[in-house]
Amino acid sequence: GGGNHRFFAIEMEDAAQERRSLELDLREAIALDQFQLHYQPLVDLHTGRVTTCEALLRWTHPVRGNIPPAVFIPVAEETGLIIALGEWALNRACADASSWPREVRVAVNLSPVQFRDEGLGLQVVAALAKSGLSAQRLELEVTERLLLEDNDNTLDTMHQLHALGVSLSLDDFGTGYSSLNYLRKFPFQKIKIDRSFITDLGDGRDARAIIGAVASLGAGLDKTVVAEGIETEEQMNLVRSQGCHEGQGYLFGKPMPADDIRSRLDKPIIA
Ligand code: C2E
Ligand code: CA
Ligand code: CA
Ligand code: CA
Repeated sequence: GGGNHRFFAIEMEDAAQERRSLELDLREAIALDQFQLHYQPLVDLHTGRVTTCEALLRWTHPVRGNIPPAVFIPVAEETGLIIALGEWALNRACADASSWPREVRVAVNLSPVQFRDEGLGLQVVAALAKSGLSAQRLELEVTERLLLEDNDNTLDTMHQLHALGVSLSLDDFGTGYSSLNYLRKFPFQKIKIDRSFITDLGDGRDARAIIGAVASLGAGLDKTVVAEGIETEEQMNLVRSQGCHEGQGYLFGKPMPADDIRSRLDKPIIA
């Protein structure tokens, strides 16, 4: 009734206000040094060695504590702040990775908003130059959301980045409007199968069949296939037997601060 209505209106107002205050705080957060990158290992399922570490943003708000990326990234995207935040992350990640063993690469997530920004290529070049990291050690992760727009600029930008020697990964594969054509059209070196498929592995043969099919497709197209969200040994064994090359998930390590990941890169993570 009327009461519910009013309650709903107040909730809406709260949400809008909340978003505005988040936006204001977000504007200051870079300058106030409130962001951090954590790193999560991607592991070669045959050698057990870390191939790559994925950089994941963490925001410690002075009052509200940790705010998850799922909350602040969308606000940063809508306000355009993701351009500056993404640039910060790119620079931080390249700088951190420059002290890792040479065979370990770093993966940085890119929002479609960054991808559409003309400055991206220069930002990447600058981050590599400042850190001294070779382009071959930088992977950029994008999701299918970007490809939906499917315009010539997207493909041009990808080719530009590719020409720099940087590699591209297709993140969260299978969650969006995956088209097999994307795999052929866009220059991805890695395909990351979304965690939801790995979570479903226990429930029957469907997820297993899908993972196996993506793994052989990837192998046929000369791409590295990664299974995301591996939490158990059983899941690791299953995705390996289905042909996945690399795994990522809590089993191998949760996202951790730069100092912690650094100390774990010298030896294999699984036997
Ligand atoms: P993502 O790129 O798919 O990153 C993987 C997410 O899955 C991370 O969540 C990670 O902590 C979580 N995860 C990894 N292994 C496991 C597991 O075994 N089990 C479970 N339950 N979760 C696992 P996180 O750090 O909260 O990040 C969420 C999303 O926020 C990321 O998803 C990415 O889309 C976005 N994000 C994070 N950092 C950045 C960034 O620097 N730039 C952009 N554009 N997006 C970012
Ligand atoms: Ca990612
Ligand atoms: Ca992912
Ligand atoms: Ca995801």
